[in-house]
Amino acid sequence: MENLDRCAIHTMTIKQWDLPTACAKFAAAGVPGVGVWRQWLDGRPLAESKKLLDDHGLTAVSLVRGGFFTGKTAEERQKAIDENRRCLDEAAAIGAGQVVLVCGADPEIPLPEARKQITEGIAACVPHAAATGVKLAIEPLHPMYADCRSAVNTIGQSNDIIDEVGADWVGIAVDAYHVWWDPNLEAEVARAGRRICGLHVCDWRTPTVDLLNDRGLMGEGCIDLPHLRRIVEATGFDGFIEVEIFSDRLWKRDPDQYLADIIDAYLKHV
Ligand code: ZN
Repeated sequence: MENLDRCAIHTMTIKQWDLPTACAKFAAAGVPGVGVWRQWLDGRPLAESKKLLDDHGLTAVSLVRGGFFTGKTAEERQKAIDENRRCLDEAAAIGAGQVVLVCGADPEIPLPEARKQITEGIAACVPHAAATGVKLAIEPLHPMYADCRSAVNTIGQSNDIIDEVGADWVGIAVDAYHVWWDPNLEAEVARAGRRICGLHVCDWRTPTVDLLNDRGLMGEGCIDLPHLRRIVEATGFDGFIEVEIFSDRLWKRDPDQYLADIIDAYLKHV
């Protein structure tokens, strides 16, 4: 990619920086978008976070994250729905157009039951999404997280859920790390079409030494990111491309140098 016009970086990617620091550094580097993790909103009124973003000319691309709809009791599941409604309110308050959903899973809940609970949870949040004007973005997670993070593991399953709950306020966030291995990737991206509302990039390292915090910088691994970008953009997607990297290895680096390397990798490998 030749310029930074559509580049966004998640606050979790350079987690050493709080929101004021991240805003100042991203803006100075010419990165126009931010994927805002909820924890970065703690400790100040939402209007102040919004002002921070606005004053730096930054767009809040997504609020990360809602979801976790599964639960052993109806009460637990209702709690999750209420929390997601609060998430939508927060996203609206900072001007983010979508809440990214890590849909939820529990090793004690069979996957088909978990998927049913997730579908019901999302459906229960749709009216509030419409009221706030914020989309619910289903992010299918790599199946290695099917035990306790998400029973929704493919774009195909995300499409199936949206077939049931409707596409007006529910979309799909495609994260390269989670979907690159899928033999039905091309077909399901095409089936998703305009449902795709987010594209997250990083890379898959070999060997991966940690299931959660060993993502690679773009170009460090085996994901064909230009191909993924091409097929996603063939659906008409022209939104921000969000750099989302969790890495114990990279979090140890000098954050200013790391930001420069993220930008370099984005320009070369996405
Ligand atoms: Zn993601």
